[in-house]
Amino acid sequence: MQILEVIRISISTYFCQVQASGIDTVSLPFNPIKLFLLVLWAYICMYFVQRLQFSPLMPYKYKSAVYIITLFTGPIFWLILLIVDTAKKSAQTNKSIFELSMQLIKKAMETIKSKTLKHSRHGSDIKLFDSSGRNFDEIYGHSDNKRQDNRILDLTENIIANALDKRASDILIDPKDEISYTIRLRIDGVLRTVKELKSNTCKAVVNSIKAISSMDISEKRRPQDGAFIAKKDKKTSSFRVASAGVVNGEKLSIRILNQDAGTSTLMDIGLTKKQYSVFTETMKMPSGMILLCGPTGSGKTTTLYAMLNEIDRSTRNIITVEDPIEAVLPATSQIEINTKADITFAKSLRSILRQDPDVICVGEIRDEETAEIALRAAQTGHLVIATIHCDSNKTALIRLLDLGISPLLLSSGLTLLSSQRLLRRLCKHCKKPARISDSLIEEFKKIGLKDYSHIYKAAGCRHCDGTGYYGRTAACDILPVNEQLKNDIRNIELASDVNTENRLQIKSRLRKEALKKVAVGITSLEELKRVIG
Ligand SMILES: [Zn+2]
Repeated sequence: MQILEVIRISISTYFCQVQASGIDTVSLPFNPIKLFLLVLWAYICMYFVQRLQFSPLMPYKYKSAVYIITLFTGPIFWLILLIVDTAKKSAQTNKSIFELSMQLIKKAMETIKSKTLKHSRHGSDIKLFDSSGRNFDEIYGHSDNKRQDNRILDLTENIIANALDKRASDILIDPKDEISYTIRLRIDGVLRTVKELKSNTCKAVVNSIKAISSMDISEKRRPQDGAFIAKKDKKTSSFRVASAGVVNGEKLSIRILNQDAGTSTLMDIGLTKKQYSVFTETMKMPSGMILLCGPTGSGKTTTLYAMLNEIDRSTRNIITVEDPIEAVLPATSQIEINTKADITFAKSLRSILRQDPDVICVGEIRDEETAEIALRAAQTGHLVIATIHCDSNKTALIRLLDLGISPLLLSSGLTLLSSQRLLRRLCKHCKKPARISDSLIEEFKKIGLKDYSHIYKAAGCRHCDGTGYYGRTAACDILPVNEQLKNDIRNIELASDVNTENRLQIKSRLRKEALKKVAVGITSLEELKRVIG
């Protein structure tokens, strides 16, 4: 088995070197090591067959059976290795061998497909469309400078395709100085520079994105908003674009809407079993408000969609008000806010109350009117799920009181508060055991964690683009609004808003929940410090 380990290490080293030198591994269908091993195996087989042919020791009648065994030993051996490897992965990921095998086949098919598509006319298999369904060719028509246009359009398509491949949530295009622009991607919540372009080239790219987003190309100073969609591998992705004039040019922020949100479940986002049952039990209630809190990019919308996915949509009438709609949910009425057309959260909420909803979902509570209608709806036989832009459960309550909501309404409407943060998951291909300091051991003991032997830190490999992390998990601090808390909220009214903060005895458990994830090796201590502090 040692020889096999040496071969495995040399192959992975070879891939890392190829990666480091910038050569695209996909473009090498037969890499030299694979070819060498194939030739070596064929040679060994032929050698044994030849030796057996002339060996006086081997009885004639067994010869053909031995030939077959010799020839098939190699493939059978590789097959056994593959099965053992899949079984190992299956034990690690809790997925069945069948699921993993299907994944492997799908991946192989996609690689073959992407290789054939790479040689297509424009070198990219992505197509961009504006909100009325027109593509670049239709928007630009027969341009005089067609060749130049094509080069820029290909570049634009490649930038968008690359962002989708790398699971980015945002693309930021900014002027770096007078002669260059940078293109950055936000992946798992962290910005990374992926490209630098000459000013003239990037201005043309910016113009092409503005054109596909139905924005005014000649307006370069005033902020504008737009949207476009991209189709790649039968998957459609939606993009929101915002432009603004800055020093040395124009900046573009492109937000990629999370299409996977429509299929994620509460267990996918990283809840513990206990938290999951608290959530699902609360969702079974016919009325009350579940309020999700967190800053921008803390995954509130994903949690909201995951909750809607847990509800039986055929038996309960669900209406959502969102800004924007991130993913389309079957059997759900989704309304998108449009302030230009005077469709606001408050107005939409008033109108949907007449539609006999069972579950109302409010994308974001921003003002008193929305908060009040939502809480009244929660009091009067509707389950309301809403999000609010706040750091913690306590600040969410204070914010609602500051907006002018009466403590009585708040205490009777709210049933559950949950604040959350997203932590990057350690890449399982390269994470390394980490040393723990005495102070950390103390902290673990304080929160009652006894087993902290699985603490890891980030390393970096080709799977995670050298970052050491892949994907994210949510750390949630769930606070059911019990009688004690209801009383505390009501008492605020009696004390006429003096010392509101002191009256609410709520401690944030976010750090504790995140530490639990560090203790089992899902994320690292460095990531916890980065996100929670
Ligand atoms: Zn890695």
